Amino acid sequence: MESPIGRHQRPSDQRDNPRLKQTKEIGVIDELRPEGFGFARSLTTPRPESIFLNAGRLAALATSEDCFRGAVIGMDVVRKPDGRYAATSASSLDITSKESADLLWTAAQITKHPLDELERLKAIQTSQPAAIALLVLASVKSPKLDQFVRKSNLHAPADAWMSPILSRAIHLAPAAITSSVVAPLILQDPSTALSIIKRVPNRAVIKGAWLESLWETVPDARISLIEMATSLALADHGAICALDWINRWLWLAQESDDEHFYTSHPLGLWDALEEQLKADSAAFDAIPTHWVGFSYAPEHFLERVYRYRFPALDSALIAICDLGTPNLCPSNYRARDQIDALDHTDIELAALWGTSSGNAKMDTSVSAQMLTARAAERCAAQYFRSLGLHVDDVAQLQLNGSTDEWRLMDLKVEHRYGVDVKNLRRTLNGGMHSSRWKVKAFKTDARGADVLLCGVSSPYTKLDRDGRLTCDTFEEMSVLGVTTASETRSLLNKFDHIYRLHVHSTTKLVELPAWSWDYPTAHYRARNIALRELRDWLTKSRQNSIPKKIREAFPPVLLVLCNTPAFLANSERSEQQNAFLEMLMATVPGNRGTGAERYLLRLPQLYLFVLHFWLHWRAQKKDINTSELTSLFQWGFTVSKHSPRSEDSASTAPKSSTTHASRWEPVSLAASVGIVDPTDTIGTLLQALTALETKLSQSTFLKLSDLSIFENGVLVGTFPDGKRRTLLAHCGGRDVLRNQAECGFRPLVYAREKTCACGRLICPKCECCSDPRFSDCAPQKDRLTARPSEEWVRY
Ligand SMILES: [Zn+2]
Ligand SMILES: [Zn+2]
Repeated sequence: MESPIGRHQRPSDQRDNPRLKQTKEIGVIDELRPEGFGFARSLTTPRPESIFLNAGRLAALATSEDCFRGAVIGMDVVRKPDGRYAATSASSLDITSKESADLLWTAAQITKHPLDELERLKAIQTSQPAAIALLVLASVKSPKLDQFVRKSNLHAPADAWMSPILSRAIHLAPAAITSSVVAPLILQDPSTALSIIKRVPNRAVIKGAWLESLWETVPDARISLIEMATSLALADHGAICALDWINRWLWLAQESDDEHFYTSHPLGLWDALEEQLKADSAAFDAIPTHWVGFSYAPEHFLERVYRYRFPALDSALIAICDLGTPNLCPSNYRARDQIDALDHTDIELAALWGTSSGNAKMDTSVSAQMLTARAAERCAAQYFRSLGLHVDDVAQLQLNGSTDEWRLMDLKVEHRYGVDVKNLRRTLNGGMHSSRWKVKAFKTDARGADVLLCGVSSPYTKLDRDGRLTCDTFEEMSVLGVTTASETRSLLNKFDHIYRLHVHSTTKLVELPAWSWDYPTAHYRARNIALRELRDWLTKSRQNSIPKKIREAFPPVLLVLCNTPAFLANSERSEQQNAFLEMLMATVPGNRGTGAERYLLRLPQLYLFVLHFWLHWRAQKKDINTSELTSLFQWGFTVSKHSPRSEDSASTAPKSSTTHASRWEPVSLAASVGIVDPTDTIGTLLQALTALETKLSQSTFLKLSDLSIFENGVLVGTFPDGKRRTLLAHCGGRDVLRNQAECGFRPLVYAREKTCACGRLICPKCECCSDPRFSDCAPQKDRLTARPSEEWVRY
């Protein structure tokens, strides 16, 4: 049977004399005789008599190198008939076992009470320091023993810990003892010190200064020292000087022949450095301006650096990114609130706008539309006021007849600008992309009027039984932006130098594409200041290596908008990407002139630029991969949603820098570069063009003639067979299976969608090919008649 306290148990002699009672004891070797036997003394009983160790016992101990005077051992002890004591087994002691601790505790209890025994223990302290060390060691596992050791004020001198058995276990001793033993060894015997440190389970014992000293004295161990420094840093960010250790790693990496060395990033060190900088921003000054470490730093570290070292830049980036964050956007309102705010004047006004058709159901529907239109006006007024602008509600004047201005405009902003609010009801599949408005009885369309149009996207509304307007609870009413009736038309011709398209203007303007709306200058105040800030920073920090790394993470399109082409060079970009950036550079108004428009690029300009660039590139090159253009709008690292101030003061902020809970997610591709695009028209266009180019090779494209764009954004071309076919469009149809609701699905892409015999694309959602207001198509009629009515049930 194996003794739990012994690892090298010898067969017991108990069998020789079964009448003898044996006890388990811990003892210390007192004497070794040249004849080959020896004596031990018990540490766990108060008995003063020596215990005989025969040659067999000593041989057993010798195998584990515990056969020397002062060695602490485990024994089974019997009292022989002649009164003398002898060990029936002797073994190396497992000092970490619970049984050892229990035995020592029992011994301590025995020795605690009688005064003479305590005296004896003190005597042991001087004569057998190893035994005291053992008690201390065992006390780590036994709270009772720990209390005893503390009360009795037992100490073993440092060299006692270096006895062979105890030095194997020193890493298990209380932290203060391990520390007091290792500290001198660091200088006297660095290798032994390192071997102990490696075994210490409690990392808090290890001191950063030890590792620094060992870095010099044990060069072979440098890789493991970096690992140890990293694990110290992970447990306690302040345990080491992270900057010094990263520098040591960089030095090793430079010395190493292994090219994969650089990929073995000590990420914990970067985290620690980041935390240290966070705790003390003055620590930034310790980082050299041209530090080679910036080339290897992880993104989140760089993010931390720029946020602290360049607070103005940080605020600028946040201002740019906040613009595209929906809940920070002043243009979104809860539709319910807008509807509930309608008062009797609004209801009276809306009643003036609707004309009776004689059909009660239709009249109810028109009433709902007109009330919603009025809510949209109030919503627009609220939006302009939120920008700090003065707004007069001109529409309301229709009721008292004091002026005729209401015939031209709904609102007057800053006493000067007339605004015609267009209520854009969201469609089944078009969402906020829907940009066709409901017309009040007195206005046919906006053509010719010199007023600003303001698009407000509204949800589907209806009148309840009591005649009150209602909509779904979570719907929003959103201001999509402003434009003028002539802006889109004139912009359509502005990209002729890139690609010449025929422009088809409609005479009756009841729809503008979603990308034609953009916000007034007042909406972009903070962004424009931020872009100027960014531009200044880029120019000033040209020579600095941190900014170089940060710059590389900026969306290249943003660099173009800042008019800083010098920073665009990147050999990894494709020919198409480079051409895109170059041509965009030439297009941004601010980059060609000066003045108020300097930093402006409106959404419709960006949209039409992307479209024209694509046409140009498709005509010029066989190789095309428009999906690559998406990356030109993206950040290399994400900008935090919150400002650094609020993140640091928030008690709920995650402590670990490796988890970034509050990341800024752009809602649209253009939002990444500070252009609000609530329906992501740019992202949608790039996807549509990527789909289109797989179906339309350069040779086919070159055979097309009379490529035309309509004011609502539809792109059409004449094919070699003489037929006009639609290339890009959105659905203008109504779903016969869903109560004739307007469909609005987009984008419809040539060859991805089927082309109808009439040349238009067939919507996969509603099977319409045309806008029911303008033309009729016989095959469409057939398709709609044939639609299986059971599909209605599935919706
Ligand atoms: Zn058709
Ligand atoms: Zn459709």
